[in-house]
Amino acid sequence: MAVQQVFPLSCAVQHYAWGKMGSNSEVARLLASSDPQARISEDKPYAELWMGSHPRGDAKILDNRISQKTLGQWISENQDCLGSKVKDTFNGKLPFLFKVLSVETALSIQAHPDKELAEKLHLQAPQHYPDANHKPEMAIALTSFQGLCGFRPIEEIVMFLTKVPELRFLIGDNAAAQLKGSMSSDSQAAASALQSCFSHLMRSEKNVVVEQLSLLVKRISQQAAAGNNMEDICGELLLQLHQQYPGDIGCFAIYFLNLLTLKPGEAMFLEANVPHAYLKGDCVECMACSDNTVRAGLTPKFIDVPTLCEMLSYIPSKDRLFLPTRSQEDPYLSVYDPPVPDFTVMKMEVPGSNTEYKVLAVDSASILLVVQGRVTASSPTAQKPIPLQRGGVLFIGANESVSLKLTVPEDLLMFRACCLL
Ligand SMILES: [Zn+2]
Repeated sequence: MAVQQVFPLSCAVQHYAWGKMGSNSEVARLLASSDPQARISEDKPYAELWMGSHPRGDAKILDNRISQKTLGQWISENQDCLGSKVKDTFNGKLPFLFKVLSVETALSIQAHPDKELAEKLHLQAPQHYPDANHKPEMAIALTSFQGLCGFRPIEEIVMFLTKVPELRFLIGDNAAAQLKGSMSSDSQAAASALQSCFSHLMRSEKNVVVEQLSLLVKRISQQAAAGNNMEDICGELLLQLHQQYPGDIGCFAIYFLNLLTLKPGEAMFLEANVPHAYLKGDCVECMACSDNTVRAGLTPKFIDVPTLCEMLSYIPSKDRLFLPTRSQEDPYLSVYDPPVPDFTVMKMEVPGSNTEYKVLAVDSASILLVVQGRVTASSPTAQKPIPLQRGGVLFIGANESVSLKLTVPEDLLMFRACCLL
């Protein structure tokens, strides 16, 4: 008998302190919907749902006819399920980790090294850089999702240097003048002026940062209390971050990085060396399996300023939305295909007026999450149909076709992570 290639998963929850609390969290709501036994603690943060085979959160297989207990064990004993190219390219391992994130307080401003730098950092300082792989990431909003991504256009930063004297004080007149002058020169001059300004900021003495930040906070609070709108200097965001991370250099980084508010379905892709931070909201996230992060602030953790200032892409750009493409074969399918081999995410929105939907077979293992709707899934190797509702997660082996029957006339929203080589 053929090995069963499709089965439901029970996924690991990470209760990191920055997560949304209890049933405010989309992670908790998905969990409660998919598993009637799950008890949600309202005083606990539900930060991340891990859908994958990572050793710190290996998904459990919800089918007791399968002898392996977890997805990681199952994959190691059924490597053909990965797809032939994926199996060879990624040494018999699932190359991505698929997640849902519910963010209440900002995550650190960070960047991830490219492969070459990741290898070097891991060799030099394994205590800070636990592995040698790169870590591209993509976030797709489930609710309104706020984040910082990439350097702002130079004109915007120059404008902040005028309107925020506390920032200008940290950067110094020389670097500020150099940045202003670079607006009329080529992109290389702009990049080097930007690097110089950002490095000055990051190298500021802690006590000077605390002093200037408290001046800025006081000024914004007083102006806001007097009824003045401080949005031209991101007043509300500055106060929000300062409350979460008092005295942290990362509060000033909002004047260097683009502030994005993604609507549901909109995405940002964080390629190597692009500074970014997730600030608030719920998203699905997909990333290469790795743990290499260089931090720049909004964190009590280790900040490696020299590495960070050296590695970043100093490419100013307003254009940070990552756009999906519409599938030619399937009118309900959008594909988010970033320029890295490790992962692709698909979004499927099927109107509730349909009674059936066929999930495309791909030459890659994949993981499917139901965010909205209710179906039963059947496939050639599954012995009986698998019921799935909001929060349900399905593993699908390579080249396996899955038919979904909509069991209620409700629109279906699903995300699927895979690796298209
Ligand atoms: Zn990141």
